[in-house]
Amino acid sequence: MQTNNLNDAPVLVVGAGIMGVGIAQVAAQAGHSVMLLDAREGAASAAKPKLAQSLETLVAKGKMPAGAAAQILARIVPVATVHDAGTVRLVVEAIVENLDAKRSLFQQLESVVDAQCILATNTSSISVTAIANGLQHPGRLVGMHFFNPVPLMKLVEVVSGLQTDKAVAEAIFALSQHWGKVPVHARSTPGFIVNRIARPYYAESLALLQQQATTPAVLDICWRGAGFRMGPCELMDLIGHDTNFAVTQSVFEANFYDKRYAPSLVQREMVDGGLLGRKSGRGFFSYGSDVAKPAATTFVAPVFPGVRDVHLHGQGAVAQRLAAALATAGLTFAHMPDSDWVGLGIDGRHLRLTDGRAASSFGPLVAVFDLPLLTQPGAALAWAPSDSASAEWSALAAQCLRALGFDTQQVADVPGLVVARTVAMLINEASDAVHQGVCSAQGADDAMQLGVNYPAGPFQWLAQWGASAVVQVLDHLDTHYRGERYRVSPGLRHRVWQHTA
Ligand code: NAD
Repeated sequence: MQTNNLNDAPVLVVGAGIMGVGIAQVAAQAGHSVMLLDAREGAASAAKPKLAQSLETLVAKGKMPAGAAAQILARIVPVATVHDAGTVRLVVEAIVENLDAKRSLFQQLESVVDAQCILATNTSSISVTAIANGLQHPGRLVGMHFFNPVPLMKLVEVVSGLQTDKAVAEAIFALSQHWGKVPVHARSTPGFIVNRIARPYYAESLALLQQQATTPAVLDICWRGAGFRMGPCELMDLIGHDTNFAVTQSVFEANFYDKRYAPSLVQREMVDGGLLGRKSGRGFFSYGSDVAKPAATTFVAPVFPGVRDVHLHGQGAVAQRLAAALATAGLTFAHMPDSDWVGLGIDGRHLRLTDGRAASSFGPLVAVFDLPLLTQPGAALAWAPSDSASAEWSALAAQCLRALGFDTQQVADVPGLVVARTVAMLINEASDAVHQGVCSAQGADDAMQLGVNYPAGPFQWLAQWGASAVVQVLDHLDTHYRGERYRVSPGLRHRVWQHTA
């Protein structure tokens, strides 16, 4: 298929809902003339005054020059049927998430538009290959997956099905850039990139809650301490547990019930009980004007407790961080860089960075702490003493961690604690996606930072933490839980071999 530059192509957007109106706005803002169509009578026309209001707000806030709003609106023309759109060179579909509805719309469109017209779908979960099945020219159909709210979110997943023409995917990639977005190529597989790689962020949190390891509030504190804007529990409350559960189920089913994607009984129970999150007034947390917000606290590090000797074990980013904190606390310490673990020896007892094993597996003299992703003092960090640790050692371990600048959050002695096990699983999922040709490593990093606001991408974490350490955590989780969930991606295992060869 010969594909021209689409920068000045007339566009038809089908579906004047949340996504369609956002897409129409972005296209018109980039100078396209846009036709807007919706099956519901009057919906496309009704969208314009609503859009006018939000554009005026932008003008009032000084975020859009006066006059620009009127120009954008003038470029958007509601139409009544697909037959009004014979001249467009691009269709972006954002109708109901239903395979039959999408197939039938595109088949109808093929009888109206030119053979060169590109057909793009904004589906968030349906196979692009399946939508194209039955088209006369299946090579022209491509996924153009925007994120909500469309004008603000930078990411566009450009999703190629089995028959998508490479030139079509490239034309949509270039057009997305022209629209001020950051496009990422993806192969059409369940969840594409973001909805696939993000699963462990929810799944591990739900697994920890099911094991009674901690509370939703503590989980969220730990994740904000790792640099995330929202913890998993408040995020699931915002998305809605029904929506999140449905996405999890669809990814699970689409992967032929691979246990790695298994939904959680915790979430099932919340959905069954109508605790859907913000929209129902209660999820993990309660919402409403009468609910008091927790008061902000200021972190003050105590002085390092009086101990006889401190040894720093291991190398890498966490060991460096501990070395800097010990120096700031004015402590002299011996460094054992070749140790096979990372952490501190304190008067013969061990405060270890989790490697995916519970502290209790080492006996009474060990406590474990979570992977610290943020370097600023006062960042929350999960930790756990061994079940058989003395009260004196538990108190000392917590005091040492606080003196080193960590806002300690004690959780049950679960393997991999909170952040380490989840980040390892995010890296694992991203590695599998790359291994299976779904996206590139750079694409995965861009997608997770721009699609769900992660503070860094999975491959950036991998570079910091090291493939062997990540695989070690996963292998230990796999040994502990015995199932398919924590199996290491072949792509990740190969990275370890490449670095040790
Ligand atoms: P929405 O319900 O807000 O809007 C859908 C619109 O499509 C409605 O106005 C409906 O009347 C119209 N419609 C339904 N069938 C139609 C047809 N056959 N022809 C023309 N119009 C039709 O939905 P939305 O949230 O905007 O989602 C639209 C699509 O975008 C879905 O495929 C969804 O999965 C995808 N998506 C949604 C989000 C999100 O966060 N809402 C994010 C990414 C992708």
